[in-house]
Amino acid sequence: MNVARRRMVREQLADAGLEDRRVLGAMETVPRHLFVPRLLHHRAHQDCALPIGFGQTISKPFTVGLMSSLLGLRGHERVLEIGTGSGYQAAVLAALCREVVTVERLAPLARRAGQLLASLGYANVEVRAADGRDGVPERAPFDAIVVTACAPHLPSALVAQLTEGGYLLLPVDKGREQILYRYQRRGQEVVIERSVSCRFVPLLPGVQDAPVDVAETPEATAADVAALADNHPETDDEQGNARA
Ligand code: SAH
Repeated sequence: MNVARRRMVREQLADAGLEDRRVLGAMETVPRHLFVPRLLHHRAHQDCALPIGFGQTISKPFTVGLMSSLLGLRGHERVLEIGTGSGYQAAVLAALCREVVTVERLAPLARRAGQLLASLGYANVEVRAADGRDGVPERAPFDAIVVTACAPHLPSALVAQLTEGGYLLLPVDKGREQILYRYQRRGQEVVIERSVSCRFVPLLPGVQDAPVDVAETPEATAADVAALADNHPETDDEQGNARA
């Protein structure tokens, strides 16, 4: 077992109050460093979000652990993730449930995550390049849905694709702050039954592909790395809140 990873789980997750043993176990096994650019491998287990190219970030470990815990997965579920990014959260979910469908609007990121997950043997993850605000109706219903980008409001298509009693996690933009809501489907409605302050990148409309030269540059740029000074405000907010 990787020492840095074990330490990450103990100090950033268990000591911070995350108790779900299946989540802690999953995050001990998923090789997080492989989901961050090679230039940042040495920072893969630090308590912050990191750039993954295309202006996006891999969420910090606590955020991934918190979201995974809030889904309360037992192992039999089919889960929809909106916002594949690096594919790391999808890999953690894949270790916790039966099947993951994950959707990313930036096609080069979707391709890269799909290739990485396949090469690591995560056979129960399907990555799609699409606008996740529509969900994936042809694969619905899902036992749980997790959105890893911040939305102005709850996309109604997602509610329709959730099973009765299922949880939907969504960061909502409230102007001065973002709130991560856990909704639960009850009949034709969803009720909010938990919330916590958080920070995520925005949920944006439409699918976007990139020219080949950009698509084939999966590493963080030197500028990304230079911008990543310790305690950079964009990656580690002052309240220590969850940050994607
Ligand atoms: N879960 C990721 C981190 C997510 S960052 C990880 O583990 O690395 C949020 C991602 O959501 C970004 O990659 C962004 O491009 C994507 N995103 C934003 N709006 C989206 C939309 N409408 N549909 C699908 N993906 C979206």
